[in-house]
Amino acid sequence: MIIVMQSGSTDQEVEAVRRQVESKQGLKTHLSRGVERTIIGIIGRIYPELQSELEMLAGVSDVIRVSKPYKLASRDFHPDDTIVHVGDVAIGGKEPIIMAGPCSVESEQQLLSTAHAVKAAGAHILRGGAFKPRSSPYSFRGLGVQGLRLLAKAREETGLPVVTEVMTPEDVDAVASYSDIVQIGARNVQNFMLLDAVAKISKPVLLKRGLATTYEEWLLSAEYVMAGGNHQVILCERGIRTFEPYTRNTLDLAAIPVIHKLSHLPIIADPSHGTGKWYLVQPMAMAAIATGAHGLIIEVHPNPDQALSDGAQSLTFENFRILMEGVRAVRQATMKVSPFPKTQALVKTS
Ligand code: PEP
Ligand code: MN
Repeated sequence: MIIVMQSGSTDQEVEAVRRQVESKQGLKTHLSRGVERTIIGIIGRIYPELQSELEMLAGVSDVIRVSKPYKLASRDFHPDDTIVHVGDVAIGGKEPIIMAGPCSVESEQQLLSTAHAVKAAGAHILRGGAFKPRSSPYSFRGLGVQGLRLLAKAREETGLPVVTEVMTPEDVDAVASYSDIVQIGARNVQNFMLLDAVAKISKPVLLKRGLATTYEEWLLSAEYVMAGGNHQVILCERGIRTFEPYTRNTLDLAAIPVIHKLSHLPIIADPSHGTGKWYLVQPMAMAAIATGAHGLIIEVHPNPDQALSDGAQSLTFENFRILMEGVRAVRQATMKVSPFPKTQALVKTS
């Protein structure tokens, strides 16, 4: 349920409404002060009479039921876009934020050369996996803490903030102490213990969509992190499993405008895992920016043929530079166009 306050409502009225709600057993509030509207979201078990009780209070304009199961993640609770700040980088605003780097951290030389190359091409954040989820137990599973140390060194040398994955609740503190953004991978999007653990840290969380996760399930996973106290969540569409085997996954670009509609959280795209093929990464990166993505995460390797993981979808330095040109051109072309159509009446098609 949300309470929409009147445009001229005072701080005292807002506080009085919050106090009234929180005086009820098991109810909490979440305040969103927007440019146009102040909204008080209510979380907890709502009883039928609550709506009319709240409608009577001073300063209240409307009390509306929210039927969606996620609340804090929903646009109803928080009409303005959320911007996640990582140092000087703002994720969720007008400028697309590009995260780039190797799938796995393999060596100091590999990571540092990639970090310098992606920075020179205009990337804002360095990616690199130290703890790698792999389908086969015989594949390279990452350098672990040594990989985290190399990421910290690359940040020191380049000034780029870093994003890296955490796979277990036990590793959350270690990963968060080295990383600027903590990534939850596709396979762990519904690992609820892990979501509870990253809810306790003060670093932003990059939450990837699962291989077979619906929008609602994905937003409920974001809700876990937010309900646990961490509101800095960035969503990432990274492709879903479909019947098509040619591409590794099917990058669901409709997810981007859908998430804009359903949620206030920033949404980025991962065309590397979303396609599995290096030559599809740039076209899908440009398409994702055109649909309104707040950024991209891209795999780049000095020598993709020799990568210890995901070489087939990794870009060379030169191809990453070309991708950045494409992204800039699309952003320029779409800057003045609203990606969202005006509300229209529902037209029956049959
Ligand atoms: C990754 O980013 O390296 C990764 C493993 O991604 P995903 O969880 O989307 O498969
Ligand atoms: Mn990868």
